[in-house]
Amino acid sequence: MLAIKKIKTEKNHYIYDTYRNKLIKVDEKLYNTLDENMSFEQLTSEMDECYIEDIKHYRKKNFFQDFPLEIEEFDYLVDIDKDYKKLNMLSLEITEQCNFRCKYCVYGDSYANLKFRNHNDNMMDYSTAKKAVDFYIQNCHKAEPVVRFYGGEPLLNFKLIKEIVNYVAKYHPKFKLSFLIATNGSLLSKEIIEFCVLNNIRLHISIDGPEEINDKYRNDINGNKTFDKVFSKIKFIKNNYPDYFNVFVAFLVTYNPSESMKDVIEFFKKNSDFFPVSNIIISSLIEDEEFYDYDKIPDNMKYLNSITQKTIDIIVDMRNRNESQGDYSPLNEKSSEMKYENKIAYILLVNTLNYITRTLNKQMIENNKVYPQGCCIPGRESLFVTSKGEYHYCEKMSHHTNNIGDVDKGINLEYVKDIIQEYQNLVLKDCRNCWAISICNQCFIQVYDGEKFNYELFRESCENLKTRLQKNLTQYCEIMEKDEGFFNDSSGLVK
Ligand code: SF4
Ligand code: SF4
Repeated sequence: MLAIKKIKTEKNHYIYDTYRNKLIKVDEKLYNTLDENMSFEQLTSEMDECYIEDIKHYRKKNFFQDFPLEIEEFDYLVDIDKDYKKLNMLSLEITEQCNFRCKYCVYGDSYANLKFRNHNDNMMDYSTAKKAVDFYIQNCHKAEPVVRFYGGEPLLNFKLIKEIVNYVAKYHPKFKLSFLIATNGSLLSKEIIEFCVLNNIRLHISIDGPEEINDKYRNDINGNKTFDKVFSKIKFIKNNYPDYFNVFVAFLVTYNPSESMKDVIEFFKKNSDFFPVSNIIISSLIEDEEFYDYDKIPDNMKYLNSITQKTIDIIVDMRNRNESQGDYSPLNEKSSEMKYENKIAYILLVNTLNYITRTLNKQMIENNKVYPQGCCIPGRESLFVTSKGEYHYCEKMSHHTNNIGDVDKGINLEYVKDIIQEYQNLVLKDCRNCWAISICNQCFIQVYDGEKFNYELFRESCENLKTRLQKNLTQYCEIMEKDEGFFNDSSGLVK
């Protein structure tokens, strides 16, 4: 089998080459001759004379390899200890308590297959937080280190947030640490806001759109609606601390695709003084029959597709008229052509294709080695610390996994190696035969069943992922056909 994927748009035909991680534009005849199930030998024996030289030329440059690819196990296993000083972000589970009971909360009763903790009263103490922050300061060499306060609702333990921020200011004044609080917003008192303003602490406030939609999912512990309260806090910050607000406050929107995308966008648009487009972070609600109304999803996706297409056309048109503009950014574009909804569509589009645009064209398989897909190295890039001081990969892989260390013993590297080894043992055989290996962003969480990495889950997740990646590649090609500079970098196309 050839290590390729055929990609077709309305106008053109392409071959995505797995080993070289590049797209090749081909004519229709060659596209139709090529069969992903052929070997290279079959291809050259069956193909029209006129293509053979070209194909052999590509083959010399490592295109058109046959599956299984000669990929060895990931060898960070050897160097993992040296490579560990790359911690990117630290997340502290300041408390497991919450004053909300959002219907879709992973710490509530939904998502029976995700075995997270339940809401409870555990709080992190100062000594635990201090040890975790000290570990981070010693091991983080990033230009912009960030500590994120996470919960439950972290403001229920505001005392600890204050202690930690003051501790870093006093004992590590040269370490340029930023802080971020992921909050439901309900407890933002004047005292808390002023502390955040004084210390440039970022606030990520959750709000899901208009009142009817937000309050369907986001209720407090007594079942009361929460929209009015949270929105009034947002207005208070904007009206009293506008400079801080514009830079340091962002909004986390959990979007259920069964809800009207149009209503969600219209709400933020109508209140755009409080919700600047670039401060909105939209993520999709985890799929679950309890929340998804599958009949309603197609209409919402149709609406999103139509504004996305319109947005692409507007941007291409504006770029054509402003060819000389080097640092062109659709989000900064003052032109009235880029309406609020177009900017939202642009952000969603870039996020969807982010992994493709970032990875495509890069040689992902080097010396016959590739890191297992999109998974992180547990605890290396991001570290999640539970209220009791256990280290975990991230918030998604916490509580239902074994810890990878703790604030007293540090990271258990042997165990981290075991995790990667276990994962590779499960997936590598399939990945060696997979066209998507160079752009795959499979994460541990998709394969974890609450107790172990599970092959059935892995297979199911891979099928969905490959369908999505193929769609993303097609959309990427369609945009490139309109404007090769759309993503402000090289197109990944072989000329
Ligand atoms: S605010 Fe966050 S932690 Fe609290 S119930 Fe809602 S989703 Fe869960
Ligand atoms: S989609 Fe699945 S089989 Fe393919 S590379 Fe990713 S993890 Fe491996």
